[in-house]
Amino acid sequence: MADRAWEEHERAVDRLASSYAAIPRGEPVRLAKQTTNLFRARTASAAPGLDVSGLTGVIEVDPHPADGPPTADVQGMCTYEDLVDATLPHGLVPHVVPQLRTITLGGAVTGLGIESTSFRNGLPHESVLEMDVFTGAGEVVTTRPGDDLFDAFPNSYGSLGYATRLRIALEPVPAYVALRHLRFDDAGLLTKTIEEITATREHDGQPVHGLDGVAFAPGEYYLTLARWTDGMSLEPSDYAGQQVYYRSIRERDTDLLTMYDYLWRWDTDWFWCSGAFGAQHPLLRRLWPRRLRRSDVYMRLLHLDRRFAIADRLDRRAGRPLRERVVQDIEVPVDRLPEFLDWFDAEVGMRPVWLCPLVAKRSWATYPLEPGTTYVNVGFWGTVHVGPDAVDAPRNRAIEAKVHELGGHKSLYSEAFYDRDTFDDLYNVAHLTEVKRRYDPDDRLTTLYDKAVRSR
Ligand SMILES: Cc1cc2nc3c(=O)[nH]c(=O)nc-3n(C[C@H](O)[C@H](O)[C@H](O)COP(=O)(O)OP(=O)(O)OC[C@H]3O[C@@H](n4cnc5c(N)ncnc54)[C@H](O)[C@@H]3O)c2cc1C
Repeated sequence: MADRAWEEHERAVDRLASSYAAIPRGEPVRLAKQTTNLFRARTASAAPGLDVSGLTGVIEVDPHPADGPPTADVQGMCTYEDLVDATLPHGLVPHVVPQLRTITLGGAVTGLGIESTSFRNGLPHESVLEMDVFTGAGEVVTTRPGDDLFDAFPNSYGSLGYATRLRIALEPVPAYVALRHLRFDDAGLLTKTIEEITATREHDGQPVHGLDGVAFAPGEYYLTLARWTDGMSLEPSDYAGQQVYYRSIRERDTDLLTMYDYLWRWDTDWFWCSGAFGAQHPLLRRLWPRRLRRSDVYMRLLHLDRRFAIADRLDRRAGRPLRERVVQDIEVPVDRLPEFLDWFDAEVGMRPVWLCPLVAKRSWATYPLEPGTTYVNVGFWGTVHVGPDAVDAPRNRAIEAKVHELGGHKSLYSEAFYDRDTFDDLYNVAHLTEVKRRYDPDDRLTTLYDKAVRSR
């Protein structure tokens, strides 16, 4: 069975190579992929994409290797939904499972995914043991931690090549997750609690395996502490039904979820963003099929909105000021979190925002996280009515400036507005360019700046 999966994998890589050879020189090299969680709009291209159709699965799960932790060999475009479906029956999950079901392993490794285990497990690329990369030179290179290609890959967004196979470490998990929702009025105390839990991995004598939070309003912050657990006399909650997970954080002190439902707790309502499509209205929710309460469905609706400028037209008709889209994830050192939240409330005013602590295990060439330092990722996804200036993205630009003033950084999956020099400094582009020259000597792949800032 495993042999056949490996053979099929080899054939899929051959097809990828053939599709690459068919792309005329001078045309952009792109993935022909069904799903995306990239937020920035991309310049359209008529050139054929890379055929990744056979690279979407799990090749092999090894629950008991002779040496080291359980592992999985996974194809680069495998979604975390399919990955978890393959590992969870073995009582195993990836060290970090990003919240959105259709994020792929390759996408999360090259684009820095994050989740509630990141305070102890770092980011998804930190549990990759080995990786095959299809480079701009059209070759498959097997690369490991410490190699220049491997170390520059996180935050390269496909500018160095595409991961076709990744061997990742897996973590044993039980069937359930017990949650505690702690409320804080004071951002200073919130910060102190994050620091304590990150250092001790426990709170009030109980272990903490997952940690994230929500800032609902100034002076109303929550941390959700997750504890892996085997048996419980309670019935687990179901937030893929009529109840909405993010609301439960304010309403309950404790909760119980199955491991599966915990991993996807944010996907059903795309955090709280499904509200924009009416999916949280009790009547519409009853009519909205359960299988369609998923982030990729909302993402498709959002693309339609952007394509036909529906919200802009409705705003104009209602006489509302033009909106600026503010969809970003940033992180600041934990001690600067209160300052960022105060500034954000005053200058942007969007809420709720998601909070997720993270600690990088080591340094990585193209994303400047200080190893061992606790950062807090702050995610905000929505629009602000700013008027005619919206086209110049004033809020997004102000966020970029504030984040760097506080010693933080910004993820590059969404829109970015840096000038070239600033960008090159922030993301160590000199090093990235050196590595790219080696693996993509004819510049077939789009550069990181062109992808992230110029939406190429
Ligand atoms: C609204 C929103 C919210 C988000 N929230 C979260 C969150 O809560 N947690 C989280 O972890 N992440 C979040 N993300 C970010 C997400 O993890 C990244 O955008 C990630 O890169 C998406 O992966 P994907 O598989 O969907 O790839 P795509 O969207 O298809 O591609 C993203 C980039 O990765 C490159 N790429 C894709 N596959 C590969 C590969 N195999 N090898 C090399 N490069 C590749 C593509 O070229 C592209 O530049 C969010 C994004 C959005 C838009």
